[in-house]
Amino acid sequence: MRNFLIAGNWKMNKTFNEADEFFAELNEKLKEMELNKTEVAVCAPFVYLEMATDLALDSPLFVGAQNCNENEMGAYTGEISAEMLASMEVDYCIVGHSERRQYFGETDDVVNKKIKMLQKHAIDPIVCIGETLQQREQNNTEKIILQQLEGAFQDVVFDDQNIVIAYEPVWAIGTGKTATPEQAQEIHALIRKWLNDNYGLDIANSTRILYGGSMKPENAEQLLKQVDIDGGLIGGAALDFEKFSDIIDTAVRL
Ligand code: PEP
Repeated sequence: MRNFLIAGNWKMNKTFNEADEFFAELNEKLKEMELNKTEVAVCAPFVYLEMATDLALDSPLFVGAQNCNENEMGAYTGEISAEMLASMEVDYCIVGHSERRQYFGETDDVVNKKIKMLQKHAIDPIVCIGETLQQREQNNTEKIILQQLEGAFQDVVFDDQNIVIAYEPVWAIGTGKTATPEQAQEIHALIRKWLNDNYGLDIANSTRILYGGSMKPENAEQLLKQVDIDGGLIGGAALDFEKFSDIIDTAVRL
């Protein structure tokens, strides 16, 4: 019922030539393969989005941004609006990534405004939530996840658009530590239950919940086999074409 979404998050990595080479390889691969029910996206730095959306014109690649500003437009030097992304045919935009929460003060309230702005411009938000190691060790994971959901989705209407949620335990991001498939499934099921309680069964059943946190070829299959895991948001392994390609192949095979 739900298609897998395998989304790479390049963060602040790759030069122009490296990005060009990666997209060319990925494009060749996607054009030649039968993707079945798997969607593939790359969330690239803003400066490479045009390169990606050009390629996506004749391939099944979806293109994502890693952030946008919560305001419509105006005097916000250095910022990028949802409308600008929409005008470049960008499909997805990550919001609330833990690195943005940690280094740029992105609160649930800001995440909420960004989701609404993206919806207004018909871009699908990939909303990241997740607990820190300390919160997990203090048995506060569920409380934090529910708090983040309540804050991010305050007055958000799920319409025809796809909102994607990414569960990314902060302690697993870029650390090489992965949540076990059981740990991840437990939180994914909690998120789906929250969707059911707040938005009803149809939305709960159709909303994709991705796992993020050191997903790589070695662990992708076990994670993707969990009933409530609908894909991955992949950082480190998405920088390497072979590794990213391997994860795509795993999703297609399952
Ligand atoms: C991420 O940044 O969203 C992420 C999951 O990174 P990594 O795969 O490197 O842990």
